[in-house]
Amino acid sequence: MRKTLVVGNWKMHGGKAFVESLLSDLKSLGPWSSDVVVCPPLPYLAQCERLLSGSPIAWGSQDVSAHNGQGAYTGEVSATLLKEFGARYAIVGHSERRTYHAENDQLVAAKAKAALAQDLIPIVCVGETRAEREAGHTEAVVQRQLGTLIRNLGARIGEVVVAYEPVWAIGTGLTATPEQAQEVHARLRQQLLAATPAAAQVRILYGGSVKPENAAQLFSQPDIDGGLIGGAALKAADFDAICRAG
Ligand code: 13P
Repeated sequence: MRKTLVVGNWKMHGGKAFVESLLSDLKSLGPWSSDVVVCPPLPYLAQCERLLSGSPIAWGSQDVSAHNGQGAYTGEVSATLLKEFGARYAIVGHSERRTYHAENDQLVAAKAKAALAQDLIPIVCVGETRAEREAGHTEAVVQRQLGTLIRNLGARIGEVVVAYEPVWAIGTGLTATPEQAQEVHARLRQQLLAATPAAAQVRILYGGSVKPENAAQLFSQPDIDGGLIGGAALKAADFDAICRAG
């Protein structure tokens, strides 16, 4: 039995007062039967540690370096450094990183490996663009993305979280139907299971315009184990409602 996981990806949104107020609202609204995680911009990680320690809310980063430890990598933050602030998760391979920072499957796999080496749980994003879906390439694209990860992680693939985020559904208000999402999730599950039986426990999240109105229907699908939430994670009431939909 996989426990529902709801992750808030705040992207580049924040402000000290905003973080203080959102987190104190969330703390008063929880706990939930789902596992709940917030991923703020990095300057707010210490604030998360201070405000969320001892609460049911875990925290993580939106990216992580492929290099561990410390070193001459300007602008990068390693899993080693994130761990010091109590981070438990790291999103890797988000489509915005793939698009704006030219991250490819190989780099995404290296980042996931670096996260696991420090016992951070990587939340690895896969998903097709609108053009790829319209050309009938959805399955080929997500299988290629996941395949590179499986080849690089070996048996540790059973320890990751996978997030299916169709690029055309991100921030657009267009959501994959529960059936469309389930179809892709089931294929991803098959591919994971072919690599290791431990994949039965891997949580596969859906992301892309998840809202309080559609979360329950999405999360009720057999292979949808929760959500990776963008815009709706910035409003305590909406995020709380999604956390309750699991
Ligand atoms: P939205 O929920 O704003 O569509 O963003 C989804 C997403 O990219 C989460 O990582």
